[in-house]
Amino acid sequence: MHSKEEIIKRLQSDSNKEDIIKLLNTDGEQQNVLLKTANEIKSKYVGNVVYLRGLIEYSNFCEKNCKYCGIRKDNKKISRYTMTEQEVIDAALYAYQENYASIALQAGELSSEKYIRKITSLLEKINAETNNELGITLSLGEQSEETLKIWKEKLGIRRYLLRIETSNKELYEKIHPNNETHSFQKRLETLKLLQKLNYQVGTGVMIGLPFQTIENLAEDILFFKDLDVDMIGMGPYIEHSDTPLYEYKNRLLPIDQRYNLTLKMIAICRIMFKDINIVASTAMQAIDYRGREAAIMAGANIVMPNLTPQKYRENYLLYQNKPCLDEDARRCKQCLEVRIQLTGNKTGYGEWGDSRHFFRRTALN
Ligand code: SAM
Ligand code: SF4
Repeated sequence: MHSKEEIIKRLQSDSNKEDIIKLLNTDGEQQNVLLKTANEIKSKYVGNVVYLRGLIEYSNFCEKNCKYCGIRKDNKKISRYTMTEQEVIDAALYAYQENYASIALQAGELSSEKYIRKITSLLEKINAETNNELGITLSLGEQSEETLKIWKEKLGIRRYLLRIETSNKELYEKIHPNNETHSFQKRLETLKLLQKLNYQVGTGVMIGLPFQTIENLAEDILFFKDLDVDMIGMGPYIEHSDTPLYEYKNRLLPIDQRYNLTLKMIAICRIMFKDINIVASTAMQAIDYRGREAAIMAGANIVMPNLTPQKYRENYLLYQNKPCLDEDARRCKQCLEVRIQLTGNKTGYGEWGDSRHFFRRTALN
């Protein structure tokens, strides 16, 4: 049985993989000690505050075919949509007026010049309508240096979220088609590029993928450490029946184990990295009604209330059982506020809630 002090010591001494594996394998009371320790570290280093990122799922068009994702290009069963410019601006204005302070713009991956011009113009308009006061996080997949440079330097975009999905190259290649569009190397290089361009960089993995081992997850944490990430957004893998990986559904860990593993991954990352931002993912809530609260209690400090117009939500199903499909933004806000309060945190209204780690990392360099 590890005490709180022992957990901290293990994770802070040049953390080795075996210690992380042991902690990922804990359960019952021992798991509770781990999560509680992470919650205390969160309080100490980033405070009892949860920051908001109003999530705008801009478009489900995607030129990629990731084998796990419900909006992959070859899934012909969904209707494709792109929000109108006015719809995006309205959602951003809602976030601004409600004092969320930040939004996250997410979509499938497209890279045509026309699309990039459209996004650039959209970002300019959001900035103009909100007095440049909204913190914007982008999650638009792998983009060129030129594009990322314009968004950062000309438009002042602060943050970019690009999950590595798994840091294990062989596993990456099993869950993606084997071609240049889905290159592990390119994903890695894009993460490095984002750092070079001075973005606050977030990455993350899916937890409980077919073929994934506990050792892989421990290596993912060491990958985050090596990369010196500013933000982490990770969540359980949830199977989708219209995707190729569904054929392995009988080989997956039971859903409650994927859920618990995610909590332990969050807790270990909080204890090891202390002042980064960690997202309580919506996928946690897909498994348990109080999943996001549990993630906050395990060390997460960011939630992403959904601002996508209701009519589009059923076509942005990355996985099945996605929650809040029928909740409008206003109800979603009230519901979240209560949920955050129940975790003993306050909501960081009006605060950007930038990654403290980013400022420490860039000051040191
Ligand atoms: N297209 C961009 C990209 O892939 O980086 C951003 C949007 S993508 C839908 C956002 C994330 O959804 C992915 O990074 C992936 O981790 C997650 N995701 C996709 N399918 C999932 C599934 N079946 N279960 C859990 N998460 C999933
Ligand atoms: Fe497209 Fe992202 Fe889904 Fe991959 S994970 S298919 S890039 S939306």
